[in-house]
Amino acid sequence: MEDCIFCKIIKREIPANIIYEDERVLAFYDVDPKAPFHMLVIPKEHIEGANAITGENSSIVGYIFEVIAKIAKEQGFAEEGYRIVNNCGEKAGQTVHHIHFHVLARRDLGWPPG
Ligand code: 5GP
Ligand code: ZN
Repeated sequence: MEDCIFCKIIKREIPANIIYEDERVLAFYDVDPKAPFHMLVIPKEHIEGANAITGENSSIVGYIFEVIAKIAKEQGFAEEGYRIVNNCGEKAGQTVHHIHFHVLARRDLGWPPG
């Protein structure tokens, strides 16, 4: 999608600090981290958000969780714990309309979240 900042990162039109890439997904550090470790994991397919997940495209969500589990082990925080966040829509504070999963780690994460 032309005006989408995350599509631009996928196409290398905007730089990002990339952690992992394959044919379906990209993982990179959040530019404004909210924890000592804060990455975003996105599908290469432009999907607007959680409301746009259907029977046609839902397999990517499972795959993203598979990739997150792998990165968490590689980065060494799988055992201590971490949080996966998806913001959907205005009230949840979604600012980029290309579905993404935040992975926050390396600090105590309060509950309930704000
Ligand atoms: P949302 O608020 O939509 O759930 O999350 C969007 C996230 O994308 C924010 O945490 C924000 O810091 C991050 N972000 C926005 N623009 C860029 C960018 O150009 N590069 C990177 N690495 N992260 C970005
Ligand atoms: Zn996009």
